Amino acid sequence: MDYQVMIVGGGIAGLTLAVKLASCSIDVLLVEKDAKSGLIYKGELLQPKSLKILDKLGVYEDIQQNWESLPSIVMTEYDQDGDELELIGKNEFRYDIIHSKYNTSVMIPHEKLKEILFQKAKLFPHFHHIRPGKFTGFMNKHNRRIAKVKTSDEEIAIEAGFYIGAEGRISPVRNEMNVTLKKYSYNHHFLTVSFPKPPSLKTSSIITTQKRFLGLFPLPDDQVRSVLLIKPGEYKIMRKEGLESFYHTYIELLPELEGFVDQIQSWNQVQLMIPVRHNVSNYIQDNCVLVGDAAHSVHPMAGEGMNLAIQDSDVLGELLCWMYDTSQTDPIHLKWYEQVRKPRAEFVSKLSNQAALLYSFPSSAWQKLRMGGIHNTARNSKLHFKQMLNTSGLGIWRFTLMDRMKQIGLLPHFLGSRSISPYEQEKHFFTEIENYPWLKLGSDQRRNS
Ligand SMILES: Cc1cc2nc3c(=O)[nH]c(=O)nc-3n(C[C@H](O)[C@H](O)[C@H](O)COP(=O)(O)OP(=O)(O)OC[C@H]3O[C@@H](n4cnc5c(N)ncnc54)[C@H](O)[C@@H]3O)c2cc1C
Repeated sequence: MDYQVMIVGGGIAGLTLAVKLASCSIDVLLVEKDAKSGLIYKGELLQPKSLKILDKLGVYEDIQQNWESLPSIVMTEYDQDGDELELIGKNEFRYDIIHSKYNTSVMIPHEKLKEILFQKAKLFPHFHHIRPGKFTGFMNKHNRRIAKVKTSDEEIAIEAGFYIGAEGRISPVRNEMNVTLKKYSYNHHFLTVSFPKPPSLKTSSIITTQKRFLGLFPLPDDQVRSVLLIKPGEYKIMRKEGLESFYHTYIELLPELEGFVDQIQSWNQVQLMIPVRHNVSNYIQDNCVLVGDAAHSVHPMAGEGMNLAIQDSDVLGELLCWMYDTSQTDPIHLKWYEQVRKPRAEFVSKLSNQAALLYSFPSSAWQKLRMGGIHNTARNSKLHFKQMLNTSGLGIWRFTLMDRMKQIGLLPHFLGSRSISPYEQEKHFFTEIENYPWLKLGSDQRRNS
């Protein structure tokens, strides 16, 4: 055996897992196909649960030095008639109503976060890496899986106790597993670009009209990440019309952007994003495991993809550490990882999908419905807390039928509205045993399971 664990893919999922395993003295090899960091935008928003995990991994201070903290998100709705905008709704959702040290979201450049994790992993003697090295498939030797990895000058064979597919949406490890993939697409695309931030923009902001959606998320170094929802095909038209028309779309929605958005010099800075959602039927097969986007990708509306990747790697990392620590390396124990992570990832995937649907139909009637739902959720303290907790990843408190009726206005929104005490909040946070249920096994059960 060359390594105890081989991770394919040095994205956020692979790197988070590598740090965890190396810190438990597990010999781990990380194989990344790209020699240099990617240039495409891949998500920068971290949710509270991810901050908690990154703290446990010992990189909290490093990321803190490079983040912009965003404790709330302001959602502004306008009625648009030609160039005229009339304010018809404004609501704020606050992370700091959650009783936790980690009650904020933060923006950090994706490549910066990867660099911090990579530098951390390198501190451990059990961490090994091949970069560039492309995993091309498995071969079979005496009934054992051997991975084939192509480096710049040779193809090498590597044997590991466990193989982790962390290669993102297109996953060769997944292709080698007996897995079915459910895929969904959407009726819209996004354009994303960052540019200098006007000083008045201090928190996450979503500005919408019947037809438009613009998300603005402040980044460190006085930059702001923007996400503009467009119809398929609209990008081509915009490019023909020139950057002036692109600037105009932004400035029309937020006049303070004048003098800032127009610092975008070329269309090359603007990235087209085509949202997809997929879920796989199973995360494990024998000694192969899927994490992050290889297992699930979610609509980017709720900023959850990178967070799911971190949370998968936390649970799988803790499990593998326990398996090696207690000398129980039978792959049968991997079932715990799927039991914890699959329902949670599917829950978040549904949440993101619902958020996407809110903005998928450009009509006044749909806008009214959406506005009512957002307004009623923000105004009812209990619904507000549920929304923020479910987004944070720290726990789950599902909306009931009554909640849904309040959200859509069939019941008054103030019914049952009350602030949720820290004691009551605690009951809806995931416990250590819910996160890592194998820890509850008694020693006898442990031996037999
Ligand atoms: C435009 C966009 C915006 C997003 N916005 C957000 C956001 O705001 N918040 C958020 O939480 N999430 C966001 N996401 C989602 C987030 O980026 C992903 O969910 C997250 O990056 C998944 O991490 P990962 O490590 O699973 O996969 P990836 O980041 O895709 O990493 C996979 C790695 O594997 C490598 N690899 C692939 N194949 C091989 C191979 N055969 N051999 C070796 N290496 C290989 C790749 O080079 C890559 O480095 C966004 C995604 C996109 C595309």
